[in-house]
Amino acid sequence: MIKVTKTYLPNLEKFKSYVDKIFASGWITNNGQYVEELEYRLKEYLHVNHILLLTNGTLALQVACKVLNLSGEAITTPFSFVATTSSLAWEGLKPVFVDIDPATFNIDAEQIEQAITPETSCIVPVHVFGNACAVEAIEQIARKYDLKVIYDAAHAFSVGYQGESLLNYGDCSILSFHATKIFHTIEGGALVTNSKELYERAKLMINFGIAGPESIVDLGINAKMNEFQAAMGLCVLDDLEEILHRRRQVYAHYLKALGNLETLQFQQHNSKSTENYAYFPIVFASEEILLKVMQALEVQGILPRRYFFPSLDTLPYVAGPEMAISKSIAQRILCLPIYDSLDLKIQEQIIAIIRENI
Ligand SMILES: *Cc1c(COP(=O)(O)O)cnc(C)c1O
Repeated sequence: MIKVTKTYLPNLEKFKSYVDKIFASGWITNNGQYVEELEYRLKEYLHVNHILLLTNGTLALQVACKVLNLSGEAITTPFSFVATTSSLAWEGLKPVFVDIDPATFNIDAEQIEQAITPETSCIVPVHVFGNACAVEAIEQIARKYDLKVIYDAAHAFSVGYQGESLLNYGDCSILSFHATKIFHTIEGGALVTNSKELYERAKLMINFGIAGPESIVDLGINAKMNEFQAAMGLCVLDDLEEILHRRRQVYAHYLKALGNLETLQFQQHNSKSTENYAYFPIVFASEEILLKVMQALEVQGILPRRYFFPSLDTLPYVAGPEMAISKSIAQRILCLPIYDSLDLKIQEQIIAIIRENI
């Protein structure tokens, strides 16, 4: 069975040697040495000022809302993984959707201003499939209306923007290190920020607000990464250049074979940013064609994913007008299998099936 992604597993002996050391030390969680080491290495690798490691990306979003004291309405995109919206709702914020740009699939920055009300406290855009949002325009709006910005950068690991990290934009960015993402720690996530103060407060928050053995100084939750997660991250990070290199090859091959087909639409990339080849989305002319292609692939044991479907404005716990563009893209978009070890023959098979069925 060929799926949209295959979790990268590092050398087992290497991982075991970390496990041996964790067992020998007896220190398995609570900001242990491997969490500290991974935090340091990621800070260097990503060129960011502060990075806090967490249990998962969803909790990173929730902690970001808490640490920024958000309430009222959050302007966000309807075209994302459900966690973007659900974590806002979970934190008691009202998600207010702004439709996406039909070319980039990111929130349409030009429509944000008209969605702002006296209740708006923040903007939560997503760099969908690692494609950088209109960060300058969003920054300008946020400044004008005194709003906070949290970027859901779950797909944007290692993406650069005009010579620096894309993660340096906004009040903070969150990352997901779930097994399905390009860099993973089994489950995991991070909060990235330029503000030392915000980092320090979030660090207390993810450990119940505990400052010392007899001192609880803030409202908190438990969202700490553990040593086994960090060990996986250290192993995967060692191999990341090779992983990205292989993904780039798979990506380029899809683009070469499918890129000139006029009935397919591809994501328009932000020319100021680099790419990480995390996803290969294609948009068909209709949902009917998408379903036909999916069925033809399925017969061969190939299971791409309808990322992202359905559009989040249709969730049962949100209200508001229909997001027509997001809905239309969501109905017609498919993410093709892309991962470092994807066999070229299988990729050729996928390409042939798509060509035959569109
Ligand atoms: C994966 C993902 C998340 C959630 O991250 P987890 O680590 O799985 O909790 C949030 N937002 C987006 C856009 C994602 O793709």
